[in-house]
Amino acid sequence: MSIRTGAEYQERLKDGRTVYVNGERIKDVTAYPPFRRIIATLAALYDLQHDPVHQARLTYSSPTTGNPVSVSFLMAETAEDVAQRICGEELRAEATFGLMGRLPDFMNALVTDAAVAARFITRREPGFAENLVRYYENCRDDDCCLTHTLVDPQIDRSKGPAQQADPEAALHRVRETDRGIVVRGARMLSTLAPFSDEIWVGPFYPRKPGEEAYALCFAIPMDTPGLKFVCREPYDRGRSRFDRPVSSRFDEEDALAIFDDVLVPWERVFINGDIEASNSFLVHGPGFALLQATVRGVVKLRFLAGLACHLAEAIGRTAAPHVQAQLGELIAKVELGNGLLRAAAQDVVTARREGISLRALAAALWVFIPEAQMRAAEVIRQLSGSGLIMTPTEQDFDNPEVAPYLEKYLQGKAIGARQRVQLFKLAWDLLGEQFGSRQLQYEWFYAGDPIFTRSRFYHSPAVNNYKAMVDRLLNQTS
Ligand SMILES: Cc1cc2nc3c(=O)[nH]c(=O)nc-3n(C[C@H](O)[C@H](O)[C@H](O)COP(=O)(O)OP(=O)(O)OC[C@H]3O[C@@H](n4cnc5c(N)ncnc54)[C@H](O)[C@@H]3O)c2cc1C
Repeated sequence: MSIRTGAEYQERLKDGRTVYVNGERIKDVTAYPPFRRIIATLAALYDLQHDPVHQARLTYSSPTTGNPVSVSFLMAETAEDVAQRICGEELRAEATFGLMGRLPDFMNALVTDAAVAARFITRREPGFAENLVRYYENCRDDDCCLTHTLVDPQIDRSKGPAQQADPEAALHRVRETDRGIVVRGARMLSTLAPFSDEIWVGPFYPRKPGEEAYALCFAIPMDTPGLKFVCREPYDRGRSRFDRPVSSRFDEEDALAIFDDVLVPWERVFINGDIEASNSFLVHGPGFALLQATVRGVVKLRFLAGLACHLAEAIGRTAAPHVQAQLGELIAKVELGNGLLRAAAQDVVTARREGISLRALAAALWVFIPEAQMRAAEVIRQLSGSGLIMTPTEQDFDNPEVAPYLEKYLQGKAIGARQRVQLFKLAWDLLGEQFGSRQLQYEWFYAGDPIFTRSRFYHSPAVNNYKAMVDRLLNQTS
């Protein structure tokens, strides 16, 4: 048990899991053309761990086996440990240009959070804490790839799961047996599902008394009987790397997870009806998963800033003061992101030492990163003008009747037409095509709705200090 190779990763996906795409049951996800290139991208990440140049950065020794395991499982305690995590996670985020929100690192980190917090989470059922720690160790030593699903189907958000017209719709426990719990219903949604080994079902929104059957946390293999996935339409439609520079490689897929009376063995149950455990779940982790998401978000910001500069240079617009101001704003945001990342790393160290203090991490994920990503997308669109749209295909460039016109009319200030068009195609794939629109939706929602979740800052004790400052001014008499 150790880090896996890309080939080993791919082999395990051929487990007969139930995955539907476009109304078709996909018997072998590795052989399905729209999935082949993203699976190759993921396999390359597993191979990267074996590259002698990168292995020291991406792995550490398993405390159980002594074998190399992914650094995103490291139970970091010190600033040096946290820096080691960031360094490894940054490498995999950079290899994918920050465009894969759900790199395996994210769930590796979340399972590590859960294992650190196990004794708090499952106080009432110590056996579940042991399950959780054992599960973490297995994932770490077996180099598992996990998807996760936290949110009830979006049916009627004005009501809880038990008050819905169909209370069976949201995932819930149907019964207990001597072998485990039987669960039924659905969760929405599950990124990376067709390409994972296991699914983690965890708590997210608070559960209320009366919703015990919905307060669950467990993890099961993707080929568990009764577990089914209905995928959204894939965005990789076989177009060339030139025509679709990013959707041809980084479409991580999303799926609705359906549980048709699925038996979850007791050893894989972590929360079973314990509302308190369910509601405090996310509070007790040190924040490794949030830190990974911050690392990935900052890497993507750097990429977007670089793209914006390239585009402006390609069309000779960099002398315009307002263009410089827009580019400067993006670069300043990258610097802010770098600073926030350093503060977030310190948050994790503090959380490990003293308990909970995740203000910088929360600020990164609910305030800064979603807005900065949206703003970068807006700036790129504004800088690009019609170039974003007028992007003929690779076949046009290959046709000698058309190519000379393209070379003449679509060239840039100091670059040839092919290069200029490729740049704009990258921008359109990243922001405008289905892949790009999904990226924006993802950036806004992946950590929960940022508009709603940031209201937690209003309830922080610091607000009283800020108000007291105003009172002090108003009350000054001299
Ligand atoms: C591309 C993408 C990938 C995702 N991948 C995953 C994944 O892999 N795993 C996973 O578990 N989840 C995933 N999610 C789901 C993500 O966790 C949710 O989108 C997020 O938590 C918001 O929930 P929701 O989509 O149900 O929206 P809702 O919560 O229904 O929000 C819709 C609207 O309701 C408003 N609203 C929310 N709460 C309240 C409230 N209490 N009172 C009033 N108004 C409110 C919001 O402001 C928003 O405007 C993904 C989402 C996207 C878009």
